[in-house]
Amino acid sequence: MHDLVIRGGTIVDGTGSSARTGDVAIDGERIASVGGKAGPGRREIDAAGLLVTPGWVDIHTHYDGQATWDPYLTPSSWHGVTTLVMGNCGVGFAPAKPDRHDWLIGLMEGVEDIPGTALAEGIEWQWESFPEYLDALERMPRALDIGAQVPHGAVRAYVMGERGAKNEPATADDIVAMAAIVRDGIRAGALGFTTSRTLLHRAVDGEPVPGTFAAEDELAGIGRVLGELGCGVLEMASDLMPEDGELAWMGRVSASTGRPITFALLQNDIDRDQWRRLLEASERANASGARLVPQVSARPTGVLVGLESKAHPFIDRESYRAIAHLPLAERVARMRDPELRRRILGETATPTQPISWLVARSFHKLFRLGDPPDYEPAADDSVAAVAVREHRNPEEVIYDILLERDGREFLYLPVLNYADFDFEPIREMLVHPQAILGLSDGGAHCGLICDAGTPTLLLTHWVRDRRRGARLPLEAMVQMQTQRTAALYGLCDRGTLAPGMKADVNLIDFDHLALSAPEVVFDLPANGRRLVQKATGYRATVKSGTVIFAEGEPTGALPGRLLRGAQSA
Ligand SMILES: [Zn+2]
Repeated sequence: MHDLVIRGGTIVDGTGSSARTGDVAIDGERIASVGGKAGPGRREIDAAGLLVTPGWVDIHTHYDGQATWDPYLTPSSWHGVTTLVMGNCGVGFAPAKPDRHDWLIGLMEGVEDIPGTALAEGIEWQWESFPEYLDALERMPRALDIGAQVPHGAVRAYVMGERGAKNEPATADDIVAMAAIVRDGIRAGALGFTTSRTLLHRAVDGEPVPGTFAAEDELAGIGRVLGELGCGVLEMASDLMPEDGELAWMGRVSASTGRPITFALLQNDIDRDQWRRLLEASERANASGARLVPQVSARPTGVLVGLESKAHPFIDRESYRAIAHLPLAERVARMRDPELRRRILGETATPTQPISWLVARSFHKLFRLGDPPDYEPAADDSVAAVAVREHRNPEEVIYDILLERDGREFLYLPVLNYADFDFEPIREMLVHPQAILGLSDGGAHCGLICDAGTPTLLLTHWVRDRRRGARLPLEAMVQMQTQRTAALYGLCDRGTLAPGMKADVNLIDFDHLALSAPEVVFDLPANGRRLVQKATGYRATVKSGTVIFAEGEPTGALPGRLLRGAQSA
């Protein structure tokens, strides 16, 4: 008698092989058999007509704070994620000297736009060292498995104090001390070391993430630890400028340590083919002994412009500011008043936030997102194009869209990965054999971006719905967020449905799988704001043999754990 039998589903096992109909039997936390007809189970789920896949493994999230107070890690868990990796991009909360707590919060708030007030109320700081942070994570019951990485920003400030925080060069002694901390972290179970080399990532005080300008001796000195221990991934967000220099040091460090380096790869508007050169350069480095892994996204990095998000074109105007404090419904009612509309549209204001500048200059790239959301709109549908067609001022078009759905509509500004106004470059990146899927940024960018639903979009948009170009095969899209992401982090006990593997399983009503429109909720600690996106069609998510979500609702079961290091099959 098995503990659980998932009966008669369409099994897509994560290896890329063709879907087949059959049963999945589970004993305890492990899969007992896949395919064919299984014997009876103490519990059985009828999966006829449903997809049965491994649970998703999302390797690029920022739940480092949330994981200390929220056992469910939404929005990712609403999208079938059963394992996630956090601590990306050089930011996190350990190691942490007691007098650095506020500073670490300011770093996370600045880089990842997670409200500082929420982090300050939510985090209990039961640690100073990285191993103590892992112990604290391990003590807390949770629904999903999580893995943590050692963030350069925190390590640098811990070792070098203000010199580190202010991006001064590291001395040889500093590097030895940082390497020792990373060694302790990896030995205790961290899955990697992460760093940021982009000027887009800044603390609330405007200072780039500590480590942004780190020289090769620092990166190589820390990277050497991963080589010594023979485990761990080096993850990095970088502007990749100068391109050749960045690729060169990554190639050297990866080749000399034998460890993979994964770097964020996105198309930008200024150098539209840079991504192609980077893929080629990465192929060349890999041909000569490195293991560079371009980390790519399934959709653009899209800013959501709305009355409840952090940006819209009227946010700094005097007549809007006078009503900005009102609850949404009241604000919408006031904004519908023709007299106020005329006043707000007639005013000008100097933008106070960089994002407002960007929005003001991007009418050609602003689109009504809609419900269901359309992430691949045509250039003809931009605010600028609509305004020309309808002989209207683009700001009027924006104003009226913001009031749709009772003020809950968003305008979508695809900042990266949309220079060509379609997903063709993304498709090419996704199918590149050396690329890995990531960059969902689950838990981050709470006021402007919500791409944690990317796992669902891979199936809905890429496999089923895409109209403006080629679709991608179901089996490959499942493999991309299961076996392949798990393998990069050495999580060899999961990512496929096979006997002996962790029983992490999604049951999906593929025909009805859908992304909901993003929405703003105030459910972080201290009533902190965040953008979330739900999905319908996940009938059940099983973690380690236990159903954690059924019909989109948590069952209350908390079988998840902290992962300590790579997991053998
Ligand atoms: Zn990130």
